[in-house]
Parts: sequence; structure tokens; C-alpha cells
Amino acid sequence: MPGTGRRAEDSAATGTAVSEALATLHRVFGYEAFRGEQDAVIEHVVAGGDAVVLMPTGGGKSLCYQIPALVRPGTGVVVSPLIALMQDQVDALRALGVRAGFMNSTQDFDERRMVEAEFLAGELDLLYLAPERLRLDATLELLSRGKISVFAIDEAHCVSQWGHDFRPDYLALSLLGERWPDVPRIALTATATRATHREITERLNMPAARHFVASFDRPNIQYRIVPKADPKKQLLRFLREEHAGDAGIVYCLSRNSVEKTAEFLSANGIEAVPYHAGLDAGTRAAHQARFLREDGLVVVATIAFGMGIDKPDVRFVAHLDLPKSVEGYYQETGRAGRDGLPSTAWMAYGLNDVIQQRKLIQTGDGDEAFRRRAQAHLDAMLALCETAQCRRGQLLAYFGQEPDPAGCGNCDTCLTPPETWDGTIAAQKVLSTVVRLQRERGQKFGAVQIVDILLGKRTGKVIQFDHDRLSVFGIGQELTEGEWRGVIRQLLAQGLLAVEGEYGTLVLTDASAAVLRREREVPLRKEPKREPASRSGSGGSSGSGRKGRSAAAAELPEHLLPAFEALRAWRAEQAREQGVPAYVIFHDATLREIATAWPTSVRELGGVSGVGEKKLATYGEGVLKVLSDLGGPPGAEAAAPEGGGAGTGGDEALGPVDWPETDAEPESDHWE
Ligand code: ADP
Ligand code: ZN
Repeated sequence: MPGTGRRAEDSAATGTAVSEALATLHRVFGYEAFRGEQDAVIEHVVAGGDAVVLMPTGGGKSLCYQIPALVRPGTGVVVSPLIALMQDQVDALRALGVRAGFMNSTQDFDERRMVEAEFLAGELDLLYLAPERLRLDATLELLSRGKISVFAIDEAHCVSQWGHDFRPDYLALSLLGERWPDVPRIALTATATRATHREITERLNMPAARHFVASFDRPNIQYRIVPKADPKKQLLRFLREEHAGDAGIVYCLSRNSVEKTAEFLSANGIEAVPYHAGLDAGTRAAHQARFLREDGLVVVATIAFGMGIDKPDVRFVAHLDLPKSVEGYYQETGRAGRDGLPSTAWMAYGLNDVIQQRKLIQTGDGDEAFRRRAQAHLDAMLALCETAQCRRGQLLAYFGQEPDPAGCGNCDTCLTPPETWDGTIAAQKVLSTVVRLQRERGQKFGAVQIVDILLGKRTGKVIQFDHDRLSVFGIGQELTEGEWRGVIRQLLAQGLLAVEGEYGTLVLTDASAAVLRREREVPLRKEPKREPASRSGSGGSSGSGRKGRSAAAAELPEHLLPAFEALRAWRAEQAREQGVPAYVIFHDATLREIATAWPTSVRELGGVSGVGEKKLATYGEGVLKVLSDLGGPPGAEAAAPEGGGAGTGGDEALGPVDWPETDAEPESDHWE
């Protein structure tokens, strides 16, 4: 490989770098072309420039440093905080024929010595290190004795003190530029806000870096937020109807609900394991390893799960509790569908979520500024939940990107536009009830009592407090209990009501007065009777009637399913034998393409995206045998479209009850 000069000023050198990069993409990774900004980033870094790269999860950040590491002379040093994943990352690279290694605390002395020797001998293309190891004198000393092609700083937002993943060891990385001024640095993250971007540039001391900010849209993810009503059952129906046999993550706020949900799913025939900080490290590691290695396992987790996991075939991310911020939500949902295949981000959200989160902010510790920030984060999240507009549009706008004014066509509000209604009178009824209780009785109550009063229900608590004698008693019979809860939820989200104290009682806000004085209208979103069944329009295929089929196979024509399943079974066997995750062998997307192309020779197989030189040599014969055992491609006439409308299954009515939160402590954002 000719050594490209640090500054490839003449176009000839640039041209060589580009064609070398492209050749590497074809030969090693088996991919056709670069995506989005990849080639611009790679060209810049190969020529010796520093880069700050913001790309969404699944955007293809890894190639941005892996290819420069392969093209430039020397070893690419990758800094990553995710020790638990290094082995898998290295395995995946080795399966591609890349000479990769890592050094971390999970290794014994001999293993580490071997990697050091390989590095010094110039036998490594890529070396993965945790930041706490990199800053050790011994490591710096070792690195200065070898040749380094590029420093890649992954998960670079960890340097941000105000972000959600701050790691003090990242601060020390600013020394790389001083110590190795001639080695290009590339910092990468999927956290998109401007503040984080600025902090990365400053703290990593990269003033001369070029900035590459990709679109944050993830068009293959379908966003849906549904009203919460018996969420475990809703989840079960969602999984059975749309994600049978798929791998996915279910997020809950507390350890207790993680445990209960995992048990519930398992008891109902869906293999699920819990993951939270209360489990011992061994159990957590085992559950994470199973998630990575097995096809179709569900992990029920607190937010502590999933950062940096680059499992490409996570088909859904479900939230049973409201995330604290849009950033958090976007990062968590972004773990779905890295391979670009259709995936779902599904969330059930209800009144109790709003009350609980508002309460947490009020009763939690932290100063006033902290509380205000948390409140602003929550308000943005609530606005996303309550919007009648395109969800994706709102998300993109939040990250400073121009959304498509026509809508995205792949979120619940685009697929089934919600109706709105004039809720001014309903709002006044709620607010007057709160006012009466306070003015006439000096009392404050939570949502349940307010709704009982409006409905004129003589419950024990209503009688005990004499609330049936209030003039507002029974003035709200035109709506159901569920609808009233929806009204209160939306008033809270709009800031027309507030939550107070540890019991979550409802009180007025400054903005409430205008509603009571009839100076302000209150448009509300109609509560859908039941969740709109979906995954119809994504990608424009006629994909209804796919009920009960895994999403990985969802858009594959019926007659190719047997081949796809046979290839998956073959892959599972390979993965088991070698002790690596299935996707290290081939991605779902590659298997789908193989089933579709039905290659009959090694050469044809090499033309499939995702089949590089090394994999062709290792698995070519095996794959061809799977196909030939099936006896050749079935006739296309077998591809008659199936009948069946969109999901009408499951006729249990969804009661208007929120999920009672049984335990208090939500998990904090720690990882390990
Ligand atoms: P990120 O780190 O940004 O989340 P990855 O680097 O893991 O994303 O890439 C996401 C997925 O896209 C991976 O499965 C990867 O193999 C695939 N991919 C990346 N670049 C390309 C490309 N140019 N062509 C085809 N597939 C790609
Ligand atoms: Zn939309």
C-alpha cells in the first residue's frame, strides 16, 4: 500500500486515496458504495485531516475510521468506553479478514502481551482501547513505540460534562493531539444537539477539525406512541402481531417493572430476559451476550442497557414508560434497525407517566437550574407524545433539521392522523374542580378523585370528603373515565395544570386563569379507541396480512421465506460453533439478498452486498449448499399475495386504566 502523504494536496493523491478506499469497501466489506457522508469523511481523514462526525445510530460511523485505518500505514487506535463489546467488535472485524485486537481489563497478562507484540510488529490494522487504559503512562509509552494511522474517538459525547454519559477519562484524550500532532483524529457520536457538538470540539481540542453532520432521520424506523391502557397486554399484542420471533428491547423505568414484564412475556411464550443494575454483573453480562448471540431474544431493561451495542438486527424498541428527554428517547429508539430494514419504535404513554415524571423532578435533588433543565427536557418529550403532527417531523426539528412538510408517511400520526376537538369546556370543568376543592375546602387531590367527582361517582373517598356536595359533582358525564384522564394528561402536557408534592396532587398554573376566564381555547387530541394497527405503508409495499411474521422476513415474498429461514438456521449453527453473534457471520439484510438473488456460483454470491472476499472464502460453499439443498429457486407464480386485512386480532377491549406503578425507584442512567 503506497503511503499517502499527510496532506494530499494534489488531486492525483486524493484520487488515489478515494479509489483505494472504495476498493477496500468492496474487497473487505463487500459493499457496493459509500453511504451519505462516509466518502467525504474518509477522504478527509485518509488525507490526514481531523474530523468531528455526527451521525445517527446505524448511520455507518464505523467505516469512517475503519477504512482510513486500513488505507493509511500503521494501526488505527479506537477509543471506546464499551469494554464488554470489544471482543465482539474485534471478532466481527476478524471475520472480515481485518487484523484487529483490543486491550482491556478482561484479558489476562499473556493475551495482552500478545496484542502488544502484534502492535509493535505492525501486524494490527485496528486496536481497541478503553479511555482509562489509554491514559496510562505504560500505554502511551507503548503507542509511541509503534506506528499509528489514525485515532478514532468513539462515543465522543462522553466527553460532555452535561450530557447523559459523561466519563471523566475522556477529558484526558485532549492530549492525543499534542502528543501525536501528525496523526489524524476522528471523533464520532450519535448525539446530535449543538451543545454537545461544541463541547466535543473544545474538550478534545480539535479546533481545526472538519465537521460532518449527517441527516438524523432514520426512515426505516416507524415511530408510534399509543395511549397506555394495560400496557403489558398492549405490548404482548404488539409483539405477537408485528414482531413474532424478532429481537428487540423493551425499556421500563424501574427494576421492578423490568422483572415483572420479563416474567409476563416469558409466561406468554415470548423469550425475554431482564437487565438492570440490580442484577449481579455476571447475570447482566450473560443476558447481554445472549441478546447479541441469539436470534429473536427480547431484553427488558432499564435505560442502562444498549449503549454502543451494534447488533444490527434489533427489530423493535418498546417503551413502557416515558423517557426523560427527547435525546434519550431518540438514542434508545435508534438502537432499532441499524441494518436499514423496517423496524418499530413503539411507546405506550399515559397520565401516570406525566404525573410520575413531574413528581420526580420536583422531589428529586438538584438545584433550581437542574430542575428547570429537567422540566424543559420533559416538556419537549411531552410535546412529542401529544402532537397531532408528524412525529418524525417533530423529532428532526428538535435536532435542528428541516422536516418534510408533507409528513413522513411512516409514523402513527401520518398513518392515522389523529382527530382534534375543542376541549375548552372540558378543560374548564377540570380546572374549576381543582379550584373549588382548593378555595371551598382548602384541599388538593390527585387525578383519580378529580375524575370521580366529574363523573359523579359516589366512591368511598368521595363520600368520606363530602365531595358529592360540590357544585361540580357529576358535571362531566359526557366523557368516559379514560377520556377524562386523557384531558388531564394533555392539560399537564400543555402546562395548564401542574403536579405538586409526593402525592402528585393537581394544582393550577399561571396559564390556567386564561382558560377559566374563557380567554384561551384548548385544542385537544382525541383519544383513539384503540391503537391503530399498522406497519402497512412502510416502504410502500402492500405489506398487510403479515401478521405473526417476524419483521426481518416481513417484506420478503412468500416463496422466498423457506430459503431465508434455511439460511438463518445455517447461520445460527455457524454462530454457535464459532461462539460469535449471528450477525458476525452475515447480516439479515445480506441473507435476504442472498435468498432473493439465489446465486448458483461463488462468483454470483460475491456480487451480493455484504459478502466480501474473506466471507466468500469462508462461507461461500456453505451458503451455496443451503440453497442447492432446497432444490433451486421456486417458481415466481408461487408468489401470490396473501389476503387478510390489517390486524383485527385480539378483541379484548382496552380498559381506560393506567398501569399502576407499584415500585418507586426508577433506575438512574448508569452503565455498569
Ligand atoms: P453506527 O456505528 O453509525 O451506528 P455502523 O457503523 O454500525 O453504524 O453501521 C450500521 C450498519 O450499516 C452496519 O450493519 C454496517 O455494516 C452497515 N453499513 C455501513 N456502511 C455501509 C455501506 N456503505 N453499505 C452498506 N452497508 C453499510
Ligand atoms: Zn410522520
